[in-house]
Amino acid sequence: MNIAITAHDAKKELMVQFCIAYCGILSRHNLCATGTTGKLVSDATGLNIQRFLSGTQGGDQQIAARIAFNEIDLLLFFRDSLQANVQESSDKNLLRLCDMHNIPVATNIATAEVLIHGLERGDLDWREIVKL
Ligand code: PGA
Repeated sequence: MNIAITAHDAKKELMVQFCIAYCGILSRHNLCATGTTGKLVSDATGLNIQRFLSGTQGGDQQIAARIAFNEIDLLLFFRDSLQANVQESSDKNLLRLCDMHNIPVATNIATAEVLIHGLERGDLDWREIVKL
C-alpha cells in the first residue's frame, strides 16, 4: 500500500509518536510525506520515506496530485483545528480528492489508529485489487 503522511506544525510531534508506535506496520508499506513531516518521522523511526517538498512549497499539492492519479491508498493528515488557516484551500483540496477517489483519510490520531489496524487486518486490500 502507498501511504501518504503529513501534519500541521502543532501535530508533527503527535505524528512522530504515532509512527514510532506503528513503525512495524508502516515499514511494510511504501511511505511518502511532505518535507518537514517526512524528515521528522524518518529521523525518529528510521523508516524509508519518499519526501516531497515542504507543505509551504507545495508538498501537499504533490500528495494531492498522487491521489488524483490513484497512487495513494491511505492518507494520514493530522490537522491542527485551532490553526487559523485550517480551512486553507490546499488542505480542503486534499480532503476533497480523498473523497473523490475513496481514499481512507485520518485527520486525527484516533481515526489513524482505526485505519492502521484495518490496514494490518487486510481491510484495505481491496484497494490493491480494484483500483477505483
Ligand atoms: P511540512 O508540510 O511537513 O513540510 O511541514 C505540512 C504542512 O505544511 O502543514
